[in-house]
Amino acid sequence: MKAVKAYAALGADKPLQPHELDRREPGAGDVEIKILYCGVCHSDIHTARNEWGGSKYPVVPGHEIVGTVTRVGDGVTRFKAGDTVGVGCFVDSCGHCNSCEDDQEQYCENGHTQTYNSLSQDKKTITYGGYSSHIVVTEKFVLNVSDKLPLEKVAPLLCAGITTYSPLKHWNVKKGDKLAVLGLGGLGHMAVKLASSMGAEVTVLSRSAGKAKDAEQLGAHHFELTSNKANMQRLAKSFDFIIDTVSAPHNYNDYLPLLRTNGIMILLGAPPKPSEVQAFHLIGGRRSLVGSLVGGLKETQEMLDYCAEHNITSDVEMINIDQINEAYERTLAGDVHYRFVIDMASLK
Ligand code: NAP
Ligand code: ZN
Repeated sequence: MKAVKAYAALGADKPLQPHELDRREPGAGDVEIKILYCGVCHSDIHTARNEWGGSKYPVVPGHEIVGTVTRVGDGVTRFKAGDTVGVGCFVDSCGHCNSCEDDQEQYCENGHTQTYNSLSQDKKTITYGGYSSHIVVTEKFVLNVSDKLPLEKVAPLLCAGITTYSPLKHWNVKKGDKLAVLGLGGLGHMAVKLASSMGAEVTVLSRSAGKAKDAEQLGAHHFELTSNKANMQRLAKSFDFIIDTVSAPHNYNDYLPLLRTNGIMILLGAPPKPSEVQAFHLIGGRRSLVGSLVGGLKETQEMLDYCAEHNITSDVEMINIDQINEAYERTLAGDVHYRFVIDMASLK
Protein backbone atom coordinates (compact mmCIF):
# COMPACT_ATOMS: atom_id res chain seq x y z
CA MET A 1 0.00 0.00 0.00
CA LYS A 2 1.16 3.45 -0.78
CA ALA A 3 -0.42 6.59 0.73
CA VAL A 4 -1.10 9.23 -1.93
CA LYS A 5 -2.38 12.79 -1.80
CA ALA A 6 -5.82 13.53 -3.16
CA TYR A 7 -8.85 15.81 -2.99
CA ALA A 8 -12.14 14.35 -1.82
CA ALA A 9 -15.73 15.22 -1.02
CA LEU A 10 -16.57 13.86 2.43
CA GLY A 11 -20.32 14.42 2.05
CA ALA A 12 -22.93 15.60 -0.45
CA ASP A 13 -23.00 19.12 0.94
CA LYS A 14 -19.27 19.37 1.69
CA PRO A 15 -16.72 21.16 -0.48
CA LEU A 16 -13.83 19.11 -1.80
CA GLN A 17 -10.83 19.14 0.52
CA PRO A 18 -7.32 17.67 0.83
CA HIS A 19 -7.40 13.97 1.59
CA GLU A 20 -5.03 11.01 1.71
CA LEU A 21 -5.81 7.58 0.32
CA ASP A 22 -4.08 4.24 -0.09
CA ARG A 23 -3.29 2.88 -3.54
CA ARG A 24 -2.38 -0.75 -4.04
CA GLU A 25 1.20 -1.61 -4.99
CA PRO A 26 1.30 -2.47 -8.70
CA GLY A 27 0.61 -6.22 -8.79
CA ALA A 28 0.76 -8.56 -11.80
CA GLY A 29 -0.67 -6.75 -14.83
CA ASP A 30 -0.88 -3.36 -13.07
CA VAL A 31 0.41 0.00 -14.23
CA GLU A 32 1.18 2.76 -11.71
CA ILE A 33 0.73 6.26 -13.11
CA LYS A 34 1.80 9.66 -11.80
CA ILE A 35 -1.09 11.93 -12.76
CA LEU A 36 -0.13 15.11 -14.63
CA TYR A 37 -3.56 16.44 -15.59
CA CYS A 38 -7.15 15.61 -14.74
CA GLY A 39 -10.20 17.11 -16.46
CA VAL A 40 -13.29 18.18 -14.51
CA CYS A 41 -16.41 16.45 -15.86
CA HIS A 42 -19.94 17.37 -14.82
CA SER A 43 -20.29 13.73 -13.68
CA ASP A 44 -17.70 14.56 -10.99
CA ILE A 45 -20.12 17.17 -9.64
CA HIS A 46 -23.19 14.88 -9.87
CA THR A 47 -21.25 12.26 -7.90
CA ALA A 48 -19.50 14.51 -5.34
CA ARG A 49 -22.93 15.95 -4.49
CA ASN A 50 -24.73 12.57 -4.61
CA GLU A 51 -27.19 13.87 -7.21
CA TRP A 52 -27.60 10.41 -8.77
CA GLY A 53 -27.69 8.63 -5.38
CA GLY A 54 -25.20 5.92 -4.42
CA SER A 55 -22.20 8.12 -3.66
CA LYS A 56 -19.82 6.40 -1.25
CA TYR A 57 -17.81 8.92 0.75
CA PRO A 58 -15.07 9.90 0.62
CA VAL A 59 -15.58 10.49 -3.12
CA VAL A 60 -12.37 11.22 -5.05
CA PRO A 61 -13.65 12.19 -8.52
CA GLY A 62 -11.75 12.48 -11.81
CA HIS A 63 -11.88 10.29 -14.92
CA GLU A 64 -10.06 12.36 -17.52
CA ILE A 65 -6.53 11.38 -16.57
CA VAL A 66 -3.24 11.86 -18.39
CA GLY A 67 0.01 10.92 -16.70
CA THR A 68 3.37 9.20 -16.79
CA VAL A 69 3.97 5.54 -15.99
CA THR A 70 6.10 5.22 -12.86
CA ARG A 71 6.13 1.44 -12.28
CA VAL A 72 4.66 -1.65 -13.89
CA GLY A 73 3.83 -5.02 -12.33
CA ASP A 74 4.83 -8.47 -13.58
CA GLY A 75 3.60 -9.42 -17.02
CA VAL A 76 2.87 -5.89 -18.27
CA THR A 77 3.92 -5.75 -21.92
CA ARG A 78 2.37 -2.60 -23.42
CA PHE A 79 3.86 -0.03 -21.02
CA LYS A 80 7.09 0.83 -19.25
CA ALA A 81 8.19 3.54 -16.81
CA GLY A 82 8.27 6.94 -18.52
CA ASP A 83 5.46 6.29 -21.04
CA THR A 84 2.72 8.91 -21.42
CA VAL A 85 -0.68 7.31 -20.87
CA GLY A 86 -4.35 8.04 -20.27
CA VAL A 87 -7.10 6.60 -18.08
CA GLY A 88 -10.77 7.31 -18.73
CA CYS A 89 -14.06 6.40 -17.06
CA PHE A 90 -13.44 2.68 -16.48
CA VAL A 91 -10.64 0.76 -14.78
CA ASP A 92 -11.98 -2.79 -15.01
CA SER A 93 -14.81 -5.06 -16.19
CA CYS A 94 -15.59 -8.79 -16.08
CA GLY A 95 -13.77 -9.42 -19.37
CA HIS A 96 -15.93 -12.35 -20.53
CA CYS A 97 -19.56 -11.25 -21.02
CA ASN A 98 -21.04 -10.50 -24.45
CA SER A 99 -20.30 -6.78 -24.13
CA CYS A 100 -16.71 -7.23 -22.94
CA GLU A 101 -16.02 -9.77 -25.71
CA ASP A 102 -17.40 -7.22 -28.15
CA ASP A 103 -14.98 -4.48 -26.91
CA GLN A 104 -17.87 -2.64 -25.23
CA GLU A 105 -16.59 -2.81 -21.64
CA GLN A 106 -18.73 0.21 -20.80
CA TYR A 107 -21.78 -2.07 -21.10
CA CYS A 108 -20.25 -4.99 -19.12
CA GLU A 109 -23.20 -7.23 -18.23
CA ASN A 110 -21.65 -8.21 -14.90
CA GLY A 111 -20.92 -4.65 -13.81
CA HIS A 112 -18.00 -2.56 -14.99
CA THR A 113 -15.72 -0.80 -12.52
CA GLN A 114 -15.79 2.95 -12.96
CA THR A 115 -12.68 4.96 -12.19
CA TYR A 116 -14.22 6.39 -9.03
CA ASN A 117 -17.10 5.72 -6.63
CA SER A 118 -17.40 2.20 -7.97
CA LEU A 119 -16.84 -1.37 -6.84
CA SER A 120 -13.71 -3.13 -8.06
CA GLN A 121 -14.18 -6.58 -9.60
CA ASP A 122 -13.61 -8.09 -6.14
CA LYS A 123 -17.02 -6.46 -5.43
CA LYS A 124 -15.58 -5.00 -2.21
CA THR A 125 -12.97 -2.31 -2.85
CA ILE A 126 -14.16 1.20 -3.76
CA THR A 127 -12.33 3.03 -6.52
CA TYR A 128 -10.87 6.55 -6.25
CA GLY A 129 -10.31 8.78 -9.25
CA GLY A 130 -7.90 11.23 -10.77
CA TYR A 131 -7.98 14.12 -8.29
CA SER A 132 -4.93 12.39 -6.79
CA SER A 133 -1.20 12.20 -7.33
CA HIS A 134 -1.07 8.55 -8.53
CA ILE A 135 -3.40 5.81 -9.71
CA VAL A 136 -2.86 2.07 -10.24
CA VAL A 137 -4.80 0.55 -13.14
CA THR A 138 -4.87 -2.85 -14.79
CA GLU A 139 -2.99 -2.71 -18.12
CA LYS A 140 -5.98 -3.28 -20.39
CA PHE A 141 -7.63 -0.07 -19.15
CA VAL A 142 -4.60 2.13 -19.81
CA LEU A 143 -4.50 4.04 -23.11
CA ASN A 144 -1.55 5.15 -25.22
CA VAL A 145 -1.37 8.93 -25.50
CA SER A 146 0.57 10.63 -28.27
CA ASP A 147 3.15 13.20 -27.20
CA LYS A 148 2.27 15.17 -30.35
CA LEU A 149 -0.60 17.04 -28.70
CA PRO A 150 -0.52 19.24 -25.55
CA LEU A 151 -1.31 16.79 -22.78
CA GLU A 152 -3.53 19.08 -20.69
CA LYS A 153 -5.79 19.46 -23.74
CA VAL A 154 -5.80 15.71 -24.33
CA ALA A 155 -7.02 14.85 -20.81
CA PRO A 156 -10.69 15.75 -21.54
CA LEU A 157 -10.69 13.42 -24.54
CA LEU A 158 -10.69 10.51 -22.06
CA CYS A 159 -14.33 11.24 -21.17
CA ALA A 160 -15.81 14.19 -23.11
CA GLY A 161 -13.98 13.07 -26.28
CA ILE A 162 -14.91 9.39 -26.29
CA THR A 163 -18.46 10.03 -25.01
CA THR A 164 -19.17 12.15 -28.08
CA TYR A 165 -17.05 10.16 -30.56
CA SER A 166 -18.69 6.82 -29.78
CA PRO A 167 -22.29 7.75 -30.76
CA LEU A 168 -21.09 9.65 -33.84
CA LYS A 169 -19.44 6.43 -35.01
CA HIS A 170 -22.21 4.10 -33.85
CA TRP A 171 -24.91 6.03 -35.71
CA ASN A 172 -22.58 6.61 -38.65
CA VAL A 173 -22.73 10.41 -38.70
CA LYS A 174 -21.27 11.49 -42.01
CA LYS A 175 -20.78 14.27 -44.51
CA GLY A 176 -23.99 16.13 -45.21
CA ASP A 177 -25.85 15.01 -42.08
CA LYS A 178 -27.52 17.84 -40.21
CA LEU A 179 -26.64 17.49 -36.55
CA ALA A 180 -27.52 19.66 -33.56
CA VAL A 181 -25.56 19.78 -30.32
CA LEU A 182 -27.72 20.76 -27.36
CA GLY A 183 -25.65 22.42 -24.60
CA LEU A 184 -22.20 23.85 -25.24
CA GLY A 185 -20.11 22.65 -22.30
CA GLY A 186 -17.40 20.00 -21.97
CA LEU A 187 -19.18 17.27 -23.95
CA GLY A 188 -20.91 19.75 -26.24
CA HIS A 189 -17.74 21.45 -27.47
CA MET A 190 -16.13 18.09 -28.24
CA ALA A 191 -19.28 17.00 -30.09
CA VAL A 192 -19.02 20.13 -32.24
CA LYS A 193 -15.33 19.55 -33.04
CA LEU A 194 -15.72 15.84 -33.78
CA ALA A 195 -18.98 16.00 -35.74
CA SER A 196 -17.74 18.86 -37.91
CA SER A 197 -14.47 16.98 -38.52
CA MET A 198 -16.60 14.09 -39.84
CA GLY A 199 -18.36 16.39 -42.29
CA ALA A 200 -21.68 16.98 -40.53
CA GLU A 201 -23.42 20.36 -40.75
CA VAL A 202 -23.43 21.33 -37.08
CA THR A 203 -25.86 23.61 -35.25
CA VAL A 204 -25.34 24.52 -31.60
CA LEU A 205 -28.53 24.83 -29.57
CA SER A 206 -27.71 26.82 -26.44
CA ARG A 207 -29.33 28.86 -23.71
CA SER A 208 -26.22 31.12 -23.59
CA ALA A 209 -26.10 33.92 -26.19
CA GLY A 210 -22.50 34.66 -25.18
CA LYS A 211 -21.33 31.33 -26.66
CA ALA A 212 -22.30 32.12 -30.28
CA LYS A 213 -18.85 33.27 -31.38
CA ASP A 214 -17.12 30.36 -29.63
CA ALA A 215 -19.48 27.91 -31.33
CA GLU A 216 -18.34 29.15 -34.72
CA GLN A 217 -14.66 28.97 -33.72
CA LEU A 218 -15.16 25.41 -32.52
CA GLY A 219 -16.43 24.47 -35.98
CA ALA A 220 -20.22 24.88 -35.77
CA HIS A 221 -21.99 26.21 -38.85
CA HIS A 222 -25.01 27.66 -37.02
CA PHE A 223 -25.93 28.82 -33.52
CA GLU A 224 -29.49 29.01 -32.21
CA LEU A 225 -30.73 30.24 -28.86
CA THR A 226 -33.11 27.74 -27.28
CA SER A 227 -34.88 30.52 -25.35
CA ASN A 228 -36.08 32.07 -28.62
CA LYS A 229 -39.43 30.38 -29.34
CA ALA A 230 -39.61 31.63 -32.93
CA ASN A 231 -36.17 30.11 -33.64
CA MET A 232 -37.25 26.80 -32.24
CA GLN A 233 -40.41 26.76 -34.37
CA ARG A 234 -38.44 27.63 -37.49
CA LEU A 235 -36.11 24.70 -36.79
CA ALA A 236 -38.92 22.10 -36.78
CA LYS A 237 -37.96 18.97 -38.79
CA SER A 238 -34.40 20.26 -39.43
CA PHE A 239 -32.03 17.69 -37.99
CA ASP A 240 -30.99 14.10 -38.62
CA PHE A 241 -29.42 13.98 -35.15
CA ILE A 242 -29.56 15.87 -31.88
CA ILE A 243 -26.74 15.20 -29.41
CA ASP A 244 -28.16 16.19 -26.03
CA THR A 245 -25.42 17.03 -23.50
CA VAL A 246 -27.49 19.01 -20.99
CA SER A 247 -26.71 18.10 -17.38
CA ALA A 248 -29.86 19.51 -15.74
CA PRO A 249 -33.50 18.41 -16.13
CA HIS A 250 -35.01 19.79 -19.35
CA ASN A 251 -38.00 19.04 -21.53
CA TYR A 252 -37.16 16.53 -24.30
CA ASN A 253 -40.48 17.41 -25.93
CA ASP A 254 -39.07 20.85 -26.80
CA TYR A 255 -36.39 19.24 -28.99
CA LEU A 256 -37.86 16.04 -30.49
CA PRO A 257 -39.96 18.07 -33.00
CA LEU A 258 -36.71 19.50 -34.43
CA LEU A 259 -35.87 16.05 -35.84
CA ARG A 260 -36.68 15.09 -39.41
CA THR A 261 -38.45 11.83 -40.24
CA ASN A 262 -36.32 8.96 -38.86
CA GLY A 263 -34.25 11.47 -36.87
CA ILE A 264 -32.39 10.36 -33.75
CA MET A 265 -32.00 12.24 -30.47
CA ILE A 266 -29.03 10.86 -28.54
CA LEU A 267 -28.99 11.45 -24.80
CA LEU A 268 -25.53 11.88 -23.34
CA GLY A 269 -26.42 14.27 -20.51
CA ALA A 270 -27.62 12.49 -17.39
CA PRO A 271 -29.95 14.78 -15.42
CA PRO A 272 -30.67 13.38 -11.97
CA LYS A 273 -34.48 13.46 -12.41
CA PRO A 274 -36.59 11.56 -14.99
CA SER A 275 -38.49 13.36 -17.77
CA GLU A 276 -41.77 12.61 -19.50
CA VAL A 277 -41.78 12.06 -23.25
CA GLN A 278 -44.79 12.75 -25.47
CA ALA A 279 -45.25 9.57 -27.55
CA PHE A 280 -46.61 11.50 -30.54
CA HIS A 281 -43.25 13.23 -31.05
CA LEU A 282 -41.71 9.79 -31.65
CA ILE A 283 -44.61 8.17 -33.51
CA GLY A 284 -45.18 11.18 -35.77
CA GLY A 285 -41.83 11.03 -37.55
CA ARG A 286 -40.63 7.51 -36.65
CA ARG A 287 -38.10 9.31 -34.48
CA SER A 288 -35.79 7.60 -31.96
CA LEU A 289 -34.77 8.71 -28.50
CA VAL A 290 -31.60 6.83 -27.56
CA GLY A 291 -28.67 7.06 -25.16
CA SER A 292 -24.98 6.26 -25.15
CA LEU A 293 -22.40 5.69 -22.41
CA VAL A 294 -18.77 6.74 -22.92
CA GLY A 295 -17.04 4.11 -25.16
CA GLY A 296 -15.01 0.90 -24.93
CA LEU A 297 -11.22 0.68 -24.65
CA LYS A 298 -10.61 -0.17 -28.29
CA GLU A 299 -12.79 2.69 -29.45
CA THR A 300 -11.17 5.09 -26.94
CA GLN A 301 -7.75 4.28 -28.40
CA GLU A 302 -9.19 4.75 -31.90
CA MET A 303 -10.58 8.16 -30.82
CA LEU A 304 -7.24 9.25 -29.32
CA ASP A 305 -5.46 8.25 -32.53
CA TYR A 306 -8.13 10.03 -34.63
CA CYS A 307 -7.70 13.21 -32.56
CA ALA A 308 -3.89 13.06 -32.85
CA GLU A 309 -4.21 12.63 -36.61
CA HIS A 310 -6.77 15.46 -37.01
CA ASN A 311 -5.18 17.74 -34.42
CA ILE A 312 -8.31 17.76 -32.26
CA THR A 313 -8.04 18.62 -28.57
CA SER A 314 -10.22 20.18 -25.90
CA ASP A 315 -10.38 23.92 -25.19
CA VAL A 316 -9.28 24.07 -21.58
CA GLU A 317 -8.97 26.43 -18.67
CA MET A 318 -6.23 25.31 -16.30
CA ILE A 319 -6.79 25.40 -12.55
CA ASN A 320 -4.89 24.45 -9.44
CA ILE A 321 -6.51 21.78 -7.29
CA ASP A 322 -7.40 24.29 -4.57
CA GLN A 323 -9.65 26.07 -7.11
CA ILE A 324 -11.79 22.98 -7.64
CA ASN A 325 -14.82 24.13 -5.64
CA GLU A 326 -14.91 27.43 -7.52
CA ALA A 327 -14.59 25.49 -10.81
CA TYR A 328 -17.62 23.39 -9.84
CA GLU A 329 -19.70 26.53 -9.24
CA ARG A 330 -18.62 28.02 -12.56
CA THR A 331 -19.43 24.76 -14.36
CA LEU A 332 -22.90 24.76 -12.81
CA ALA A 333 -23.38 28.34 -14.01
CA GLY A 334 -22.41 27.29 -17.57
CA ASP A 335 -19.28 29.45 -17.27
CA VAL A 336 -16.67 27.01 -18.54
CA HIS A 337 -14.72 27.44 -21.78
CA TYR A 338 -14.90 24.55 -22.28
CA ARG A 339 -13.29 22.21 -19.79
CA PHE A 340 -11.53 22.88 -16.52
CA VAL A 341 -8.36 20.82 -16.22
CA ILE A 342 -6.48 20.45 -12.97
CA ASP A 343 -2.71 20.81 -13.09
CA MET A 344 -1.88 18.03 -10.65
CA ALA A 345 1.53 19.56 -9.91
CA SER A 346 -0.49 21.91 -7.69
CA LEU A 347 -1.41 18.99 -5.35
CA LYS A 348 1.14 19.41 -2.59
P1 NAP B 1 -21.04 20.88 -18.69
O1 NAP B 1 -19.67 21.17 -19.14
O2 NAP B 1 -21.55 21.49 -17.44
O3 NAP B 1 -22.03 21.23 -19.92
C1 NAP B 1 -23.41 21.11 -19.85
C2 NAP B 1 -24.05 22.20 -20.70
O4 NAP B 1 -25.46 21.99 -20.67
C3 NAP B 1 -23.85 23.61 -20.16
O5 NAP B 1 -22.65 24.20 -20.57
C4 NAP B 1 -25.06 24.33 -20.73
O6 NAP B 1 -24.82 24.69 -22.10
C5 NAP B 1 -26.12 23.25 -20.72
N1 NAP B 1 -26.95 23.37 -19.49
C6 NAP B 1 -26.58 23.20 -18.22
N2 NAP B 1 -27.59 23.39 -17.36
C7 NAP B 1 -28.64 23.67 -18.12
C8 NAP B 1 -30.00 23.95 -17.85
N3 NAP B 1 -30.45 24.03 -16.58
N4 NAP B 1 -30.82 24.18 -18.88
C9 NAP B 1 -30.36 24.14 -20.13
N5 NAP B 1 -29.07 23.88 -20.45
C10 NAP B 1 -28.23 23.64 -19.47
O7 NAP B 1 -21.25 19.31 -18.48
P2 NAP B 1 -20.51 18.08 -19.23
O8 NAP B 1 -19.30 17.71 -18.47
O9 NAP B 1 -20.44 18.35 -20.67
O10 NAP B 1 -21.57 16.92 -18.94
C11 NAP B 1 -22.89 17.05 -19.43
C12 NAP B 1 -23.75 15.90 -18.93
O11 NAP B 1 -23.31 14.68 -19.53
C13 NAP B 1 -23.70 15.66 -17.43
O12 NAP B 1 -24.99 15.27 -16.99
C14 NAP B 1 -22.74 14.49 -17.30
O13 NAP B 1 -22.92 13.74 -16.13
C15 NAP B 1 -23.12 13.70 -18.52
N6 NAP B 1 -22.10 12.76 -18.99
C16 NAP B 1 -22.56 11.65 -19.61
C17 NAP B 1 -21.67 10.75 -20.15
C18 NAP B 1 -22.18 9.55 -20.88
O14 NAP B 1 -21.44 8.60 -21.01
N7 NAP B 1 -23.38 9.58 -21.41
C19 NAP B 1 -20.29 10.98 -20.01
C20 NAP B 1 -19.87 12.14 -19.39
C21 NAP B 1 -20.77 13.03 -18.88
P3 NAP B 1 -25.41 26.05 -22.74
O15 NAP B 1 -24.92 27.17 -21.86
O16 NAP B 1 -24.81 26.05 -24.09
O17 NAP B 1 -26.89 25.91 -22.78
ZN1 ZN C 1 -17.02 12.38 -17.55
